[in-house]
Order: sequence, then C-alpha cells, then structure tokens
Amino acid sequence: FADRKNSFGPNIEIESDWRPFKAQIDTFMGQDTQWRAYPIVGGEKVETGQTHAIKSPYDHSQAVGEIDWADQTTVAKAIDLAQAAFPAWSARPASERADCLDKMADLMEENYPELMALCHREAGKTIQDSIDEVREAVDFCRYYAQQARSNFAEPHKYTDFLGQEKLAQLKGRGVFTCISPWNFPLAIFTGQVVAALVVGNTVVAKPAEQTSLIAVRAIELLHQAGVPGDVLHLLPGDGASVGAPLTNDKRIAGLAFTGSTGTAQLINRTLAARDVAPVPVIAETGGQNAMLIDSTSLPEQVVRDAVRSAFASAGQRCSALRVMFVQEDIADRVIPMIKGAMQEQSVGLPYLHSTDVGPVIDEKAQTMLLEHIEHMTKVGKLIAQTELPDLANKGTFVPPTAFEIDSIDQLTDEKFGPILHVVRYKARDLNKIIDTINQSGFGLTMGVHSRNETTCARIANRARVGNLYINRDQVGAVVGVQPFGGQGLSGTGPKAGGPHYLQRFATEQDL
Ligand code: NAD
Repeated sequence: FADRKNSFGPNIEIESDWRPFKAQIDTFMGQDTQWRAYPIVGGEKVETGQTHAIKSPYDHSQAVGEIDWADQTTVAKAIDLAQAAFPAWSARPASERADCLDKMADLMEENYPELMALCHREAGKTIQDSIDEVREAVDFCRYYAQQARSNFAEPHKYTDFLGQEKLAQLKGRGVFTCISPWNFPLAIFTGQVVAALVVGNTVVAKPAEQTSLIAVRAIELLHQAGVPGDVLHLLPGDGASVGAPLTNDKRIAGLAFTGSTGTAQLINRTLAARDVAPVPVIAETGGQNAMLIDSTSLPEQVVRDAVRSAFASAGQRCSALRVMFVQEDIADRVIPMIKGAMQEQSVGLPYLHSTDVGPVIDEKAQTMLLEHIEHMTKVGKLIAQTELPDLANKGTFVPPTAFEIDSIDQLTDEKFGPILHVVRYKARDLNKIIDTINQSGFGLTMGVHSRNETTCARIANRARVGNLYINRDQVGAVVGVQPFGGQGLSGTGPKAGGPHYLQRFATEQDL
C-alpha cells in the first residue's frame, strides 16, 4: 500500500488500515453476493431476456452474476433519448457537470470495497491492480472536472493574426458513443464516459462483454452523482450485436474507443461508410512495446522493472513490455537474473496478497496465448516459465513465459498476456533496432535502461512512441501526471489523463 502512486483519495497505507478495509471487501467476495444487471436506458433497467452468466476468470465454478444484453430496440431507444437530452445537458454550466464528476469520485471512494471485489471476481485483478483500478477511475473524474472548470466554463479569448480580439466557446457535439475494453473495466470505462459528459455530450456506453457488471455499478453511481437518466445510457453486449449498431447509427456525433487495433480499424471503416458528416474518433489501441537495455544499466533494476512491466496484470496492459532488447555485452548477466525472478513469482488467486500474477480474462485469450507459447517453443529459445498452481485448471491461467528470439520481426501482432520476448543486440546496431521497432507500426510505450544520458536522448529522439520511460518500469501511467496514449497503430491520441484530451470531445464555436 505504501507503493500507491496516485495522488488523490483515502490514504490506506498501513496494515492497521488494511485489515478493516479487507473485511469490507470480503463482504462482497462470497457466493451469496451476486450481481444481477441490465441495460440502463433513461435511468431505468431494461429486461431484454438475453441473459448471460458471468463467471470468475480464476474459477469458472464461481458465479459473479448475470447480465441482460441490450437488443436492437434498446439501442435505438437509448440513442433517441440521448439525442433529445443533448440541448439541455449541453446548456448546463460546465461547473455543474464538473460537480457531478467530483461527486462520482466521492461515491466510488465510498464504494471502494464493492468495486474492488468486482475487480477481483469479474476481471480477475490482483489486490494491487484492483486498488489502482478504482484510484485511476477516481483520478479521471477529479482531473477532468478540474480541466472542464478551467477550459469549458467560460468562453476563451484569443487575439487573431490581425490583432483583433476574438471569443470562442468549447461545447459538446451531441451523442457520443463510448466503447471500452475489459482490461481496465472501471478506469477506462469511467474515463471515457465522464470526459464525454463533462464537455456537454450525452453518452451511450458499451462496456466489454467480459466485464459489464462493474460498468453497471459505475453508471448507477454516475446517475446517483447527478447525471440525468436521459443523458447517460448503458448498453451491455458484444461487438457484433451492440458495438456495431452503436457505431453505424447516423446520429452519433463522436466515438471514443479503447481496445484492439483490429477493432478500431473495423470501427473506422463502419463510420466512414455512413452517408453523413464525418465525426471525430478517439481510438486508444494496442502496442508492441519494447524495452532497450544497454551495458551501462543496473541489472537488478532492469530485472525488477522488466518483470513488472511484462508480467504484472498477467501482461494484460496495453503498455506492457513485449520485447526486451539487451545489449549483448550484459545479456549473459541479465537473462539468468530474469529467469531467477520469474521462478520467484507466484501465480494464483488474485485476491490473495501472495499472488503476483492472476488469471487471464477468458478461454479465448488463454487459447491464443497458449498457442503462441507453443509456436515460440519451436522458433525461439525458452528462458523460463513460472509454475502454475494446482488450482489453475479451475480458471483461465497462463504461465508467465520468456523466450529468446532473433528479431522483433518474428512477432506479427500484439500478444496480450504474460509472454516476454528477449532479443540480444550489438551496441553499433542501436539505431537499426529503434527503426525496426518503429517499423512495427505500433507506438505506445517504450522503456529505456541506461546510465548514459546521450544514449537516452538518442533513443528518445528516434523512437516513435507515446510514452517513454527511462530507468523505471513502463506501466501504470498516473492521470494528470503521465498523460497516456500512443501513435500509429497504437491510437489517434490525444492522451488520456492529459490537458488536451477533453478538447477532442468538443466543438469550438465563435461568439
Ligand atoms: P477488443 O477490440 O476485442 O474489444 C474492445 C471493445 O470493442 C469491446 O467493448 C468490444 O465488445 C468492442 N467491439 C468489438 N467488436 C466491435 C465492433 N465490430 N464494433 C464496435 N465495437 C466492437 O479489445 P479487448 O480485447 O477488449 O481489449 C484489449 C485490447 O485493448 C488490447 O489490444 C489492448 O492493447 C487495448 N487497450 C489499449 C489501451 C490504450 O490506452 N491504448 C488501453 C487498454 C487496452
């Protein structure tokens, strides 16, 4: 707990604070607590009869709850209501909308134990990841509230090229679709939705089908925080049945998406095919993230940061380390140390302090990752594989695994899980290595370990990535401190949790 990085909220740092807090979480951890959830349209639950059971990723015999997916009638009604609600919501003072976000932050803190239990049970998140998940959602609310008060409350004055004073107002655009992934089921979901709302848009939100229960709780809390029922609607379901119609609808004025690069490309094509005005798309997508380690780096620090970057959250972070480049002069020192650290990791039940790595989200992810491990066993050289516990066959676990390979070109796409690839390089090839990383087309995070300032500067200048981390791990960006987002195949920007994010949800009108 002392490691908590984020800047706001309750300070649970010592053991005596943890025990009562843990007791509150435990009240939501038993099988007698299950959530029953529905689409929420106009502030009302809608029973569609398309009921789906949600099981814990760490134990499929453990039910978490049930959720009805939205049907076409529900999707259409939500957009109707959101469109009708737009003029009144966008006319409200930005400070009132910001007040709703601050209230939402307070409510999430009040409901921390339940939200943490949902992170464990529905998303398979570890204790530290669950704490960070709720904290990040809270931080998004407080940061965007502050940004909206500064930039949206009053018209802004500027002096044009001819020296004349002008006034312009940033305003909402209309109905925003927000589509989010399962790997940050509360933080990213809440971040997108509140950003769209605070600017003055109305919102139809589709959470990932794997983690909709926590999204339902977030919507309930947002309504409790003062966001009117006709302004914000929740439409659970999968990409084909709910995501696609929400993207296709001609009334959508903008779309915020976080997920895989392939889905973003599909959404782009769907939006482009609509015979209406083009709309802004904010897409935050995948990565093929590298860490470059030169011979001046400290091996102990490298191992700590590489292992955390590759395997924390079972590697299910868009920022996670996938390919570690080690200068050949120190490779024979660093690689055995990585192996040693991996043997010390423990894979297990996410709600236990003894667990470093929890399950992956579902069978589809597990199968894809195990296939990749099998393939790499043939084309690469196994460095280490962390042992799985006996209980692993109850859920969807994948052993953290590291391979040595010859080149990043052996990887064609993002493998979203606990698999690390290690490549040795010669010092004279550094520029070539950076160019090869750039040529992958992804540009999300990069880690650098070097005590040579010239090398750090050279890498920073040449690499095309959104977030570059020097002599530390490369995951866990903090809202308002390390704005997060990539370029190329990794996303359109602007960076989430940064000062330019809200503007992209808005239109600018002269006064
Ligand atoms: P995904 O692309 O499979 O799904 C994301 C969302 O899109 C889900 O809600 C899904 O139902 C929806 N969707 C799927 N098909 C759709 C369609 N045709 N139309 C509309 N919506 C559709 O991604 P995922 O597996 O949920 O998430 C993991 C991915 O997200 C990884 O690639 C990861 O790198 C990326 N990610 C990126 C960031 C970032 O900030 N760059 C953050 C988190 C996750």
